[in-house]
Amino acid sequence: MPTTERLTYAWCFDHAALHVFPQASTHWCTAAWSALDSTDRNKALNEKQNRFGAARFLDELPREQQLALRHIKPDKHHPHE
Ligand SMILES: [Zn+2]
Repeated sequence: MPTTERLTYAWCFDHAALHVFPQASTHWCTAAWSALDSTDRNKALNEKQNRFGAARFLDELPREQQLALRHIKPDKHHPHE
């Protein structure tokens, strides 16, 4: 099957799920996800395991990783600040 579409795999600590984004389109999830440098689903899951261990949600990560992920969140959805 043709796979010309390039994909970005990312682990989302808000939804506790692997996200797959077509690189050509806008990412539909703007929560705390971390892009994984992998080209297929299994490798992406392996890399997630290597980098973040068994953590699935943001509050299961060490504090410094939590802060790093919060940092990449866009601020435009924070009307109170
Ligand atoms: Zn998400």
